[in-house]
This record gives sequence, C-alpha cells and structure tokens, in this order.
Amino acid sequence: MKDIATVGRTKQILADHGFTFKKSLGQNFLVDLNVIREVLNKAGITERTGVIEVGPGIGSLTEQLAKRAGKVVAFEIDQRLIPVLRDTLSPYDNIEVINEDILEADIRKTIAEEFSECDEVIVVANLPYYITTPILMNFLEQNLPIARFYVMMQKEVGERISAPPGSKAYGSLSIAIDYFTEARVVQNVPKSVFMPPPNVDSIIVEMVRREAPKVNVEDEALFFKLTRGAFGQRRKTILNNYSSIFEDGKKKKDVIHQMLEQAGIDPRRRGESLSTEDFAKIYDALKAFPE
Ligand code: SAM
Repeated sequence: MKDIATVGRTKQILADHGFTFKKSLGQNFLVDLNVIREVLNKAGITERTGVIEVGPGIGSLTEQLAKRAGKVVAFEIDQRLIPVLRDTLSPYDNIEVINEDILEADIRKTIAEEFSECDEVIVVANLPYYITTPILMNFLEQNLPIARFYVMMQKEVGERISAPPGSKAYGSLSIAIDYFTEARVVQNVPKSVFMPPPNVDSIIVEMVRREAPKVNVEDEALFFKLTRGAFGQRRKTILNNYSSIFEDGKKKKDVIHQMLEQAGIDPRRRGESLSTEDFAKIYDALKAFPE
C-alpha cells in the first residue's frame, strides 16, 4: 500500500471516508514524503524514542513516525478523524490515538503511562497554526519531561520564536522560548506540500529543552510579566512601558527608574534590545527593591 503522505493516497482516503476539511481546526495535511523524512532525520528518532504528535489528521506524519519510533501517541481533537485513523494506521501496533484537545489533555499522565519503555520523549508535529503559541507554551510551562520539539508552523511565528535580541521579529515569545529551550529554524516549507495549501508560508523549528531554564528566577509569572510588559508598545522605552503596567505606589515612574538603574539597565532602552539575561537582572532588582 502507498504511503499516506502522497497526493493519490490522501485523495483516496478523503473520498473513502467522505471527509471534508475544517479550516477552523487548521487542517492542512502533508502530502510530501521528502519533507517528512527531512524532519525525521533531524529529530534523531530511534526505537527507544517515544513521540507525542499533536493533530495527526489522517496519519501522514504519524505513519512515518511509527516506522522509526518505539511508540507514538497522537492527540487529535476532531472526532471525525478517529475512524479514519483507525483505518489508515491499522498496520501499526505502536500508535495510540487520543481523541482530545491537546490544551486540555493531561500530558504528564500520558507520558508516565505510555512511554515507560522509552529512553526519551520528543514532540513532532505539523501544528494547527491557529494555536501554535498556546500549544508550545502549554508544553513548556508545565515542565514536562520532553527532550526536543520538531514542529512545523507558520513561518512568521517560527521567526519570532527563534529571533535574537535586536532583530525585528524579537519579542516576548522569543524570550519565553529562549528561557526554556535552544531554538533554531531547521528549514522552510513550501505551501505545495499541503492539501489544501495554506494561505501562509511554513517553517520547521527545532527546540531542544535546556536542562534548567536559561536564567534563575523563582517567580516565573513575574518574570514573564516583565518580559511581556517591556513590549507593551514596541516604540516605547522600558521605563514608559513599565510605568503603565505597574500601577501601585512602589513602582511609580521614579521608582522604576531607580530599579532599572540598579539592574544596570538604561531606562531609555527598548524591550527589543534586551536579552533574557537582561530581563533576569531587572527581575532581580525588582525582587531586591524595598517595599
Ligand atoms: N499531522 C497531519 C499532517 O501533517 O498531515 C495534520 C496536520 S494539520 C496542520 C493539524 C491537525 O491538528 C488537524 O488534524 C486538526 O484537526 C488537529 N487539531 C486542531 N486543533 C487541535 C487541538 N486543540 N488538539 C489536538 N488536535 C488539534
């Protein structure tokens, strides 16, 4: 039987099951084996690897993952795809499909239950583009035992994720990802490898989880409030951006000014010029500031 990730087989599966795409669920299925093989080669999958896939669709990527990995667990929100997957993935006995929204799933429990035989767990996915950021942050903030991520996403989001300080795409998402992982763009992906082709260009990003976050902050919520707050209005200085997010007396403008100076950060700088380490200095200064 032909691989699922081909135009001919995909059309056949869609016709056999009378399946129609739901745009609102970001359904663009891969119909190119070369792109999939590239991802799998980079991901370093062996039979000791456990893989979590988000959104298997009709199983194009899932099938190729199952050929190399020890076990694949795929979360699919669309109930209509469950019988399709049961059919297309029937030759493989190392795949578990879970009909759940990945944002609601108890991933920690799934890892404990499904991957006890594996040496490592990684995430490989052609993500639903409308929720790329929430999905990634949900994986990362929970501090799950996931070693690496290989994810296809909208090009613009991928560029933001991997952007260095000072670049146009750099923002609070770049810092959040840098805090937890080392991220890099693996390759660009043309629209033609999907059915139907999406409106936007795509990119594959690798994220390798750091053993410990890049900087040491106890209160992550406060740290991320500082990073997001610095980009409230991109053209404003951090002093002005922080003046509008901290309303209580302690943090009036002159106090924020002093606090930034104590952190060794020029209050006239803009968020886009500050590294993850710079934000950790601001965090430390804020924590040390007298009530
Ligand atoms: N992996 C398949 C492929 O590459 O051909 C399909 C990828 S398609 C871009 C995204 C998939 O994610 C769709 O099957 C969609 O139904 C599913 N999906 C969308 N939102 C989801 C969610 N919140 N949780 C789990 N799956 C979701």
